[in-house]
Amino acid sequence: IPRRRIKVGEAKSELTRLEKAVEETKKELAEIRDRVRQEIGKREADIFDAHLLFLDDLYLRTHVEYKLVHDRKNLEQALAEVIEESERMLSSVEDAYLRERALDIRDVGGRLLENLLGHDRYDFMTTHNDVIIVADELTPSQAVSLEGVTVRGFVTARGGATSHAAILARSMGVPLVSGAADVLKNITLGTQLIIDGFRGQVILNPTERELAIYYEKLEFLHEKPQELLQLNELPSVTRDEIKISLQANIGSPKDIKLVKEANAEAVGLYRTEVLFLDRDAFPSEDEQFETYQAVVESMAPRCVTIRTMDIGGDKFVSSLPSLQKEANPYLGFRAVRIHMHHPSLFETQMRAILRASAFGNVKIMIPMISCLGEVKWVKTNFLRLKNELLQSGVEFNPNVELGVMVEIPSAALIIDAILRHVDFVSVGTNDLIQYTLAVDRSNEQVSEFYDPLNPAVLQLLKKIGDAGKRSGKDISICGEMAGDTAYTELLLGLGFKALSMSPHFINGVKLVVRALTLSEAESVAQKAAAMFESRKIRQILQKSLHAKGIPEILVFPTT
Ligand code: PEP
Ligand code: MG
Repeated sequence: IPRRRIKVGEAKSELTRLEKAVEETKKELAEIRDRVRQEIGKREADIFDAHLLFLDDLYLRTHVEYKLVHDRKNLEQALAEVIEESERMLSSVEDAYLRERALDIRDVGGRLLENLLGHDRYDFMTTHNDVIIVADELTPSQAVSLEGVTVRGFVTARGGATSHAAILARSMGVPLVSGAADVLKNITLGTQLIIDGFRGQVILNPTERELAIYYEKLEFLHEKPQELLQLNELPSVTRDEIKISLQANIGSPKDIKLVKEANAEAVGLYRTEVLFLDRDAFPSEDEQFETYQAVVESMAPRCVTIRTMDIGGDKFVSSLPSLQKEANPYLGFRAVRIHMHHPSLFETQMRAILRASAFGNVKIMIPMISCLGEVKWVKTNFLRLKNELLQSGVEFNPNVELGVMVEIPSAALIIDAILRHVDFVSVGTNDLIQYTLAVDRSNEQVSEFYDPLNPAVLQLLKKIGDAGKRSGKDISICGEMAGDTAYTELLLGLGFKALSMSPHFINGVKLVVRALTLSEAESVAQKAAAMFESRKIRQILQKSLHAKGIPEILVFPTT
């Protein structure tokens, strides 16, 4: 940034230069926004509308003008300072959503400065090789400007899964691993990397064996479309003809396309809180109703399990003022606890879901149940709301089923009692593992302790499986374990006949389901449940998959 003291009276011409750069930047951003709207979606395009608003903001002009006139700083210096100050101001606020917007300011501000300075941007179009972008941080417009270039992955030191750049990378289908500060230090231009977006892993200078495993995995994922397509049409049954329901997890109506492509039997988990993130006010009952209706109608007659909002933990919602910064958010004010303290939010959502139930096949599921009192509270209010809708003649399905998630060990330990009060349960292994093992699921420092095969986790799953058999009620798994082929045989053997996962994983799991028999799976699960070391459990599962001739790629691919 060039720095000089400007002459008295020069401020006017500096401001004219600013306007020119602003106009140029606005033109670029409008082009990006339109392209994103067409190719990705409206929500992603809105990010760039927010950038355009910043360029029109009086704040920017008045502060730059002040520095030009009073401090006699040149335009580049004044602008760089204003951008930095705005960014700093936003970075220090309590509200997590606003804090993340600091990155947007840096993004649009940086673009404006570059235009002012006439910098050329590094042109990835001219690189011939596939590239992995390694950066301290990735901004939304950087992510989008790389669309169409042979970017095979992103690795960043900072930024979480809810950052806009991550949202965009996901919709571009490009893997992104964030929070990789340690690895970043050891990467230089030309370092060979493997990015495993499924597992959030970056492998530096991979060994021959790792390369071979991953090339095979890539081939399996991308280069055998014919085989996978065939799998799409085949039923999900074991060799002894037991039907296993493979379902999909979604976060918005946009995901339905993938669900259909994967031919999932149902939506086993619709994470509705996605609709509540990134906005200033809670969505109204009508807006919620329309969103749920779109999903339910497009899936009908297949079932959609709609989960009430699981806000809290790592999912901040700026429109809920009482959601304060907590020292231990995963042990804090989250999900059903918020429902009970803000009953009107819960009621609005329940009514919207019940109304949507008139348009297809709906089940309702409550997250983060820790005791029977919560189940009873939910049920009482559910029955009351149904009654009120009935009285006022609103259309809905009165037989809609109510279930809960089992993802806290205290709920797993009283599973028999819970099953007496609900129609079904689904196990959220992501949280169940974190709470059983006291391992923060989003803290990369302790990720080695996050072990789905820890015998304590297995004992809880077994308890739920046994209770499911006794009660005759539906039990399923909807955490990430459900989509990992390494665990398919174990979960089936424990008594789970419905697995809900990201649609991308359905074909892989189906391949394993079709290669095994339920009776073998039961004996494998029984053997595994008698072990008290995860290493031994892993060996049992691995050996059994190998014996069935399952491709190496689907058997614990990273070990
Ligand atoms: C889980 O905890 O396993 C789950 C499915 O819910 P979420 O990942 O949304 O917490
Ligand atoms: Mg959960």
